[in-house]
Amino acid sequence: MQKKSVGYYCWAGPGTIRMIHTKFFSPKINEQSLLESYDYDYIARTQDILGVTDYWVTYSWGFHPNIEKEDYSFILSRLKNFHKLGIKVHAYIQGPNVVREGFEDKKWYAKDHNNRNVSYYRNRDVVCVNSQEYRDFTAQKILSLKDSGFSGIFIDNIQMGQLGMPLYYNNKPFVFAGCACEICSQKFKQSSGHEIPRDFEKDPHITAEYLKFRTNSTTGFVSELQGVAKSINMQFGVNTFDPKKENEYIYGSSLGQLAPHLDYILIENHSFPNTTGKQGNRYVQKLAMNLNTPIYVLPYKIGIGYDSEFSYNDFVMQLSEAEHFNVNPMIKGSEYTSRGIWHNLNISRLKPLRYAKKFKFSTIHHIKKKSMAMLHIPGIRYAIKNHYNTAYRMFMENRLVRDLFAWAYPLAVA
Ligand SMILES: [Zn+2]
Repeated sequence: MQKKSVGYYCWAGPGTIRMIHTKFFSPKINEQSLLESYDYDYIARTQDILGVTDYWVTYSWGFHPNIEKEDYSFILSRLKNFHKLGIKVHAYIQGPNVVREGFEDKKWYAKDHNNRNVSYYRNRDVVCVNSQEYRDFTAQKILSLKDSGFSGIFIDNIQMGQLGMPLYYNNKPFVFAGCACEICSQKFKQSSGHEIPRDFEKDPHITAEYLKFRTNSTTGFVSELQGVAKSINMQFGVNTFDPKKENEYIYGSSLGQLAPHLDYILIENHSFPNTTGKQGNRYVQKLAMNLNTPIYVLPYKIGIGYDSEFSYNDFVMQLSEAEHFNVNPMIKGSEYTSRGIWHNLNISRLKPLRYAKKFKFSTIHHIKKKSMAMLHIPGIRYAIKNHYNTAYRMFMENRLVRDLFAWAYPLAVA
């Protein structure tokens, strides 16, 4: 992949409309905007104005195939629009989680230390990366795209079981993270001789061993799917979360381990460059120098679903910064909420960008660690350990709880 490729990250079509309804309570959506984003005129304008070379488009959100059949045909019927313009198309496939409807009888769900399912989002549960049934299901989905006109496969949200708690005391994990399903229990027992620790604070050595098993499981999952994608000559990439955070512990994914299995990495972060030079992606350049895998950076300002449409100046800034730091920009084409309405980027309003201005880009790349003094109190850790799964599920599934704590989301991701 060329260094100077410009990505356009664009969730659209009927599947994305359905997914927004699945994730949120009574969202207002500009549906027309989501249905036009793969039209020839729209794509041609993104190429003209932003220099887009590659598109990431919605293929599968993880609904039951009977439900998302229409999503497959929506994008497949529009691939010719991209081909006419010489734009490469990457099929966006949701990673290890599914919308439960239609999959209720499946044995593939990740389990926490108390054998409970793990919420992904409203109506969606996390699936275990060690489940061969799920790996085969995803492999079949990829294989069905042989000779379809896609150039690549992209798998989003690579995570192993329950998320670790981002703030932990003295770098010591205390909340259960990962998966304790039957398959994982057997595999871990075989490789280590131990049971999966139910309490991460009890024996730090076994916990450390288990966390290693957890990242290896994620790498195994990604490497198997890479093999499948390669068998049909597709490029293959996944996203990774902001490398400023402790992703190995939070998601169970190790960038260093995954990189050799990928044609590119997509990093989503909250470092949208600004003109004061206080925020930016200098640290990604540093990372790129240490990895041989090309990087795309998709910076948000607040987070998915919280950003209103970016302006002309924002795009000039983003593209200039990417050029300056020699990384591939990924432009956010979708999931804007302006005045409370979900919509995709209104490309007709943008004029061709000019890069006359010189910016001062941030050179900050140190990472500020947050510390949570209250986690020193064993009783608080005990309460969090026991109620983390339930609280997470309530936030996702219960409208009142979600509304009450909506303010906390931008704080947690910032
Ligand atoms: Zn498992």
